[in-house]
Amino acid sequence: MISTALPFGPAYGFGLYIHWPFCTKICPYCDFNVYAAKDRDNDALVKALSDDLARHARTLESHPRLSSIYFGGGTPSLMAPKDIAGLIQQAETLFGLERDTEVTLEANPNDVLSADLSAWSDAGITRLSIGIQSLDDEALSFLGRDHDAVGAQRAVERVARHFPNHSIDLIYARPGQPPEDWEKELSAALGLGAPHLSLYELTIAERTAFGKRAKRGELIPMPDDDQADLYELTQQVAEAHGLPAYEVSNHARAPEMYSRHNLTYWRGGDWIGLGPGAHGRLTLDGQRLVTHAPLRPGDYRTAVSSTDGLAGEKLSPLDNARELLALGLRSDEGFDTTRLQKLTGIPVPADAMSGMKEAGLLKQDGRHITLTREGRLLADRVAAELSP
Ligand code: SF4
Repeated sequence: MISTALPFGPAYGFGLYIHWPFCTKICPYCDFNVYAAKDRDNDALVKALSDDLARHARTLESHPRLSSIYFGGGTPSLMAPKDIAGLIQQAETLFGLERDTEVTLEANPNDVLSADLSAWSDAGITRLSIGIQSLDDEALSFLGRDHDAVGAQRAVERVARHFPNHSIDLIYARPGQPPEDWEKELSAALGLGAPHLSLYELTIAERTAFGKRAKRGELIPMPDDDQADLYELTQQVAEAHGLPAYEVSNHARAPEMYSRHNLTYWRGGDWIGLGPGAHGRLTLDGQRLVTHAPLRPGDYRTAVSSTDGLAGEKLSPLDNARELLALGLRSDEGFDTTRLQKLTGIPVPADAMSGMKEAGLLKQDGRHITLTREGRLLADRVAAELSP
């Protein structure tokens, strides 16, 4: 149990997120802040990331050592290992790293196959998250990926030899995907032996290429009920293989394999967000500060070079409470409801809580609440009902 005077902040974890926004090819479903790699200016962005880290360190002098670093994107496996190493070393010098700090790199299968994996571990990476997305060639082509199923499989096998702590990402609930096909594909993915899996339902965002196709009626998203059935099937198959969910979309073989970095988000810890479009949550003078970097790489570089302090907005106690609840409910650690009362002075509404329990969506143990498996499917709704 975490003991802290504040119901949020670095006592719940302190992470560093680094966003590398470039990709070789933009996938048609992707709603992240990404840009084609041909337009990139690596050195200028690496310098801006480093200056931004130094700028954060000047403001966060009393923060503890970092418990995690996460290179996300975009495709951070396109970064030069020397740049990855440089940022990790700088983070260590400026903040210090906990003895078992988790340092994750998101990687595309093709990069895994061509990279010198020892260079990544020498740089300080301790965990790889591989975006295989599917083990079906037709689906990979539909998703616009530049690897095939055999490449995905070989990439996972290669990573397993270098990084025992690794994760694979898969996307399911694709249009028209039959349950038996997903069951087969998921079982094959589990058979690769990764100790951590992130399993996401395909969401079709309006501004993406898929969103535009859906608007023209050329792509029909899977109906919600069918998605819910696939979610249930996913839980059964993953549990049967010894990887139960410890969060709505994340499964692990054992607690040691949970993503420490993501736990910081779900627990209400602090994190620095570096890079174009990155968000941060930082506790300063007892207040929760939201940072949000400019989206475009050029604007980000300009913002870093023209401001010395941290630009951020204070999160109101009410918004902070709502966010802590929504994120806290996602993981199987659940949520201590007194944290909301500490922030807002308002207890969680007892009638809403009983309603959720009766509906089988919530479990309560004293002041502690957790979602049931059914509740996980409706996590956003439950959080909205219980929000102050
Ligand atoms: S590789 Fe990943 S981040 Fe890049 S466009 Fe595709 S889904 Fe988005």
